[in-house]
Amino acid sequence: MRCTVLGAGVSGLTCAVRLLESGHEVEVISDKFSPETVSDVAAALWYPFLTAPAERADEWGRVTYLELERLATEAPESGVTIRDGREYLREVTDLPSWKDDISHFRVLDVSEIPAGYAFGWEFRSPIIEMPKYMPWLRQRIESGGGTFRQLFVNDLAEVEGDVIVNCVGLGARELCNDNDVKPARGQIMFIDQDPGVGHYDQQPETLTYTIPRSDVTVLGGTAQIDDWDLEIRDEDNEKILEKVEAIWPEVDPTRIIGGTVGLRPSRTEVRLEEEVIEGIRVIHNYGHGGAGVTLSWGCADEVVSLVDQSL
Ligand SMILES: Cc1cc2nc3c(=O)[nH]c(=O)nc-3n(C[C@H](O)[C@H](O)[C@H](O)COP(=O)(O)OP(=O)(O)OC[C@H]3O[C@@H](n4cnc5c(N)ncnc54)[C@H](O)[C@@H]3O)c2cc1C
Repeated sequence: MRCTVLGAGVSGLTCAVRLLESGHEVEVISDKFSPETVSDVAAALWYPFLTAPAERADEWGRVTYLELERLATEAPESGVTIRDGREYLREVTDLPSWKDDISHFRVLDVSEIPAGYAFGWEFRSPIIEMPKYMPWLRQRIESGGGTFRQLFVNDLAEVEGDVIVNCVGLGARELCNDNDVKPARGQIMFIDQDPGVGHYDQQPETLTYTIPRSDVTVLGGTAQIDDWDLEIRDEDNEKILEKVEAIWPEVDPTRIIGGTVGLRPSRTEVRLEEEVIEGIRVIHNYGHGGAGVTLSWGCADEVVSLVDQSL
């Protein structure tokens, strides 16, 4: 089948890989490519953050975890590594639904929890270095025979192909008139210092993270809904550093070497469903919020099974 994938972020590229593997012909159309997509800004830790619906997201996350774990050992050039990290919470809560789906999980001893926090757990998780991962995905598509075209699409009905896979992220606000899609602005800093284990506070109001990659450690963050500002703000950097110091007291601000901003495509829930527009089959796959990388392989598998349903 001739599949046209719209969007060259992590969602579109992962769908393109899986569609090619299933024997389809694939063209990826996008107005921007790596390194200019939101996906290139992702930190990126496997963690189901700011995403719904819960049950489907759990399954997409589970499938993705397994695939990323496999890539870390079988294709280290992809930029995927595995690290332990510690998540801290201000109060005792239920354990996360995904705790049995991952390779290591344990509740922290009280002596391991920083001041101001009451509870926490350690978990093993893939870390995906997007500057390596995005070109690696593209290369996989090219070697599988997929093609790329640069184009801004105004109307889904004008796109050619037997099936259109719509992975335009925040672009769906205009392309699909979907006002439920809103930016969740994320500002991050890069530091040339390794915390050993990652330290995280993943509550949207207090969001703090230190994600150790091989090149830098990513410090975050912010999740400012409906905020379209792409400029780095000094006051956000100050706040990020203050929050990071509370969970990683050894952080050395003199070793900060940069930062950036990205707009997560947040939505009440991920839209992964088929719609027929003027006789053309469209499979939507957008609105992954803060977890587009975390859900990418699970969503791509579901997209392929929808595409194949009509065969
Ligand atoms: C600071 C920050 C940290 C993050 N950390 C993590 C993390 O640790 N883990 C995690 O899982 N996720 C993380 N995320 C979220 C993650 O980046 C997103 O969920 C993910 O990138 C969404 O991918 P996408 O492919 O759906 O969208 P995008 O990457 O935005 O790609 C959309 C594509 O569609 C194209 N497009 C849009 N409109 C049109 C149009 N009309 N015509 C043609 N092309 C169009 C764009 O050019 C782009 O190529 C983070 C995000 C930010 C900002």
